Amino acid sequence: MKYISTRGGCPPQNFEEVLLTGLAPDGGLFVPQNLPKLSNTDIESLRSLSYSDLAIEIISPFIGGEIPAEDLQKIIIESYSGFGHPEIAPLKQLSEGEYLLELYHGPTLAFKDFALQVLGRLLNYVLSKTKKRVVILGATSGDTGSAALEGCRHSDRVDIFILHPHQRVSEVQRRQMTTVCGKNVFNLAVNGNFDDCQRIVKEAFADQSFLSDDKQLVAVNSINWVRILLQIVYYFFAALKLGAPSRTVSFSVPTGNFGDIYAGYLAKCMGLPIDRLVVATNKNDILHRFISRNEYSMTVLNKTYSPSMDILVSSNFERYLFDLFGRDSKELCQFMDSFGKGSLSVGEDQWEQVKTCFDSSSVDDETTCKVIRELFNGKGELLDPHTAVGLQSARNCARDSKSPMVTLATAHPAKFSDAILAAGLAEPELPPHLQDLFSREERYSVVPNELSAVVDFIKSRV
Ligand SMILES: *Cc1c(COP(=O)(O)O)cnc(C)c1O
Repeated sequence: MKYISTRGGCPPQNFEEVLLTGLAPDGGLFVPQNLPKLSNTDIESLRSLSYSDLAIEIISPFIGGEIPAEDLQKIIIESYSGFGHPEIAPLKQLSEGEYLLELYHGPTLAFKDFALQVLGRLLNYVLSKTKKRVVILGATSGDTGSAALEGCRHSDRVDIFILHPHQRVSEVQRRQMTTVCGKNVFNLAVNGNFDDCQRIVKEAFADQSFLSDDKQLVAVNSINWVRILLQIVYYFFAALKLGAPSRTVSFSVPTGNFGDIYAGYLAKCMGLPIDRLVVATNKNDILHRFISRNEYSMTVLNKTYSPSMDILVSSNFERYLFDLFGRDSKELCQFMDSFGKGSLSVGEDQWEQVKTCFDSSSVDDETTCKVIRELFNGKGELLDPHTAVGLQSARNCARDSKSPMVTLATAHPAKFSDAILAAGLAEPELPPHLQDLFSREERYSVVPNELSAVVDFIKSRV
């Protein structure tokens, strides 16, 4: 399997090369050159597999023989062995045709564990062959940081540096990062906001001359292809349980960077009979405006109860646009270059194509709290605010469809107690393995809001 850049300025790369980087050198994102296609008979044959065995079947074609089957199997089984539910991704029925796919049973209680548990182990595996080390650098507004630290702390060929905005993440989120032990683990609290953290990370990736020649930076946010790849699996897992391939299934996906839902789109392209994909957004609704009105433009950032979806621009949307433009890198580059200079739209035919696959909705904080309250009072089911946005969007977009609708439950409610309290409910308890979180020792360094401060910090530790 080879990977190409959406911007068309980089030769095809193999899986290992794509794993060990961030953006493509031309500034684009890597996508598979060809997608594996599964027939209904192929899909049928996956039906009785456990989550880990299914994951191996789905991802193997993308790795193209670069990792021997038995080694890959070991990595996958280990990655999911720390999950707190035997089914890994249990499917729960809420009402007729309405389901939740619980993706929060991993060590850090959000769906990002599905990919980052594997990513840390894959890095270690490929680096031990070459005897190299890499430096992971990432910025987080919360969930990515803890999942990345937890996924990489045992990777002895990796030094990991996570930037978070000082005093601007929730206490649970901060403690989930700063209590991870390991001498290769570094938390930097930047005196700035999340955008400052992201800017510093981007600048560091653009000029890596501060590292010695045998080292490079690796990304852990969803521009890294491996993040997307591992998320394709649970769409298959849920759809198979609901009767695919002889029945179609729809999904509603709480969306920030368009990573998770892009994985659903790929599952559909690979042959999984997905009916609708609902892009669920909060008040930061650039994707909803695009899908419903063909209007792609930046507004101001809104702070909401679902902070992991508080974004202005969704980086992975470029991967989808590349397909929408018939994989024409020139057209994509033009579109991306004009972004930010006013509102953009795509051709009428292209927009029609978007609507054959995606629905969308935007849900405000008040409605989010109302959904949380009503579902808890009605069914005793406590949702996190991201999942509540997903469920409400599913309901907003449900048509007279015969397809069951699965909402991805992306986080455990205890991670986002602000919203639960605002909904008038009692603060949820952390699961047993995190009950002592507030008494664990924290480790982090406060640094000035400057690239040079971060670079000096890294240089002195690697
Ligand atoms: C990261 C995150 C999202 C958004 O996922 P994307 O892949 O960026 O669209 C939604 N919900 C939760 C809880 C998250 O942590």
